Amino acid sequence: MAASRLRVAVSPLRRDVAPRDLARTLPTVDAAVAELRPEEPLHCLRPQAIEAAARSFTEAFAGRTLYAVKCNPDPRVLSALWRGGVRAFDCASPAEISVVRQVLPEAGIAYMHPVKARSAIRLAAAEGVRDFALDSVDELEKILDETGSAEDLGLVVRLALPKGKAGLDLSGKFGVAPDEAPALLRRARGHARRLGISFHVGSQCDDPARWRQAMALAASVVAAAGVKLDVLDVGGGFPSAYPGADLPVLAAFMAEIDGAHADLVERLGDLAPGELWAEPGRALVAQGVSVVVQVQARRGDALYVNDGIYGSLSDAGALGWRYPVRLIRASTADVKPFTLFGPTCCSLDRMKGGFPLPADVGEGDWIEIGQLGAYGASLRTAFNGFDRGQLVEVSDAPLLATPGYAAA
Ligand SMILES: *Cc1c(COP(=O)(O)O)cnc(C)c1O
Repeated sequence: MAASRLRVAVSPLRRDVAPRDLARTLPTVDAAVAELRPEEPLHCLRPQAIEAAARSFTEAFAGRTLYAVKCNPDPRVLSALWRGGVRAFDCASPAEISVVRQVLPEAGIAYMHPVKARSAIRLAAAEGVRDFALDSVDELEKILDETGSAEDLGLVVRLALPKGKAGLDLSGKFGVAPDEAPALLRRARGHARRLGISFHVGSQCDDPARWRQAMALAASVVAAAGVKLDVLDVGGGFPSAYPGADLPVLAAFMAEIDGAHADLVERLGDLAPGELWAEPGRALVAQGVSVVVQVQARRGDALYVNDGIYGSLSDAGALGWRYPVRLIRASTADVKPFTLFGPTCCSLDRMKGGFPLPADVGEGDWIEIGQLGAYGASLRTAFNGFDRGQLVEVSDAPLLATPGYAAA
């Protein structure tokens, strides 16, 4: 009785936070706003832009592309990636594995989280997953226990990298130290049909040389281990366009990877990996979603809008990331920078920006915020009851293009 009352009390905040899919396709964001006049955040999905970016990446990369599902697990996003040539998915939880299996039964899946619950390993194995990441002997033992030491295991050792200068550094949490990696590789070799090394240079990494440095480190580790490597996984971290970013073209990243791969083959000879993998997330999907917000109040240079850091804009909060913005009506006013406040009562719910908008923007106006397809919708919460949102498909061009990727 008490338990059911509690459930009733919390249920309005625990419903699925995914935006309500209107199953509508409209030609442009402007047309969608004109028709729907949305008072809730309107998610505008651009499947063609996702498909095009996926095609650009899979054609440029000389190996197998695994999309990092956490970045945006929406079934339509997964399908668009598949149409763009992505045939494998990097999952980090049983829920991610299950959505990929449902949407794309033919897809390859690798479980790339280096620290897994035992029950999660069992569930993955039951779903036919055989490739698992690890960064410790303890994790190796867990994988062997829970898969019954399957004969066809792929074991991918995640290597820790020195701290880099990516937009979002990922060096502190996972990975075996380079001096401990050879022993772990030798141990894993005895149990692996496929033995791999992976790393992550950090998200939104704009320096192609980071991949070359990481691949050289991987080569040293393999040489020290003296074991044959089957897979070298160069991870994710490929950048997407944001205001102010001056990015090298996609081909510049691939040139470093290809060059480093050639060096590695020369250095390692028979031990060199036959296969390259990559795990892009952000670069494939960021441009695939814009969110249209409505202004509820203006106070000076601050706009109070209906989405914020507990919704699709979390990285605009503490991380201070800026996103491209566009006022959805004609204005001849001068452009000036604005700060945004989100809808919750929390004072952290502030996006400093600055977001350049015409000086006459005000209550009732709609603003398109671009580049929210990566880590935008997937990080939404129901905090304070602000979990409403709608989703439509559009086919106009994204607000920003990432150099070297086809736009659609
Ligand atoms: C998050 C993640 C990725 C994707 O990173 P992006 O910066 O979005 O490209 C790839 N691999 C692993 C293991 C991850 O955790």
